[in-house]
Amino acid sequence: MIKIHVLQTGKVNISESLAFRDEKVNPSLPKLTILSSYGRKNRKWFPVSAYLIEYDDQLILYDTGWHRDISPNGKYNRLSQIKHQTLKDYLTNQGLVPPGQAINEQLADMNIKPEDLDYVLLSHLDVDHVSGLKHVQDAKNILVSRDELEFANNNKIRYVSNMWKGVNMKTFQFKEKPHDTNDEIYENGPAGKVYDLFDDKKFQLINIPGHTPGLAALKITNTDTGKYVLLFSDGGYAEKSWNDMILPGIAENLNQAIDSLKWIRQQSLNDNCIESLANHDPDIEPHTITL
Ligand SMILES: [Zn+2]
Repeated sequence: MIKIHVLQTGKVNISESLAFRDEKVNPSLPKLTILSSYGRKNRKWFPVSAYLIEYDDQLILYDTGWHRDISPNGKYNRLSQIKHQTLKDYLTNQGLVPPGQAINEQLADMNIKPEDLDYVLLSHLDVDHVSGLKHVQDAKNILVSRDELEFANNNKIRYVSNMWKGVNMKTFQFKEKPHDTNDEIYENGPAGKVYDLFDDKKFQLINIPGHTPGLAALKITNTDTGKYVLLFSDGGYAEKSWNDMILPGIAENLNQAIDSLKWIRQQSLNDNCIESLANHDPDIEPHTITL
């Protein structure tokens, strides 16, 4: 049996057009500058999710959400945010972590110590996914895709590398598993790139490039029944993203982002898909899924 706890580690305040790309207002790629309307207008609070998975004796955490440093007293704190994630990031995405919601606090509530975690898997390295990493840095294995880390190293302006500095974070490499053009279902993701954690198809990190090149969705499958849960991180921002094919505002590669969203849609509509979850979907409440 696999249990997936959908957790929320506070909220992020961003322009709606960062979550849901508006082709009419701004059809070109948004530039993340202070002057950009993408950074300032029509801001809204979105949840910041992390997922704890229990499987046999394994504990797996997918993404880490916000660090407590964002809100030291559990309240909105401008200076703390600027210190933790730089002024540029503060202007783009502001965070709030109410008391008890940082990932280490939620784990402690479940009597789980960071060193009990067998794996911390990072979907990508944007601040709202990796900010809380130091809360769980004593986990046995911390993994991010090699493509993502290379991209982050070459695009320092987008990332805050202090968030993983000094942490024993290792990389995994997606295996190339190209699909046949006749295949109706692309089992190995839109790019044909997969990292199968235990080599048994139960926990597959599937590359869904676009938002970032190394973005990894997590597909969790009960291999006895074929039923699965898809955690697609920032491949889209909500169910309506794949329902209505609305891209994320930030896409490093637009064509790849479209292919990835099409793949998320296909996987989500499949009868075997129990739940398909975006990291920041405003309609999702914390809950537990048994698979
Ligand atoms: Zn995000």
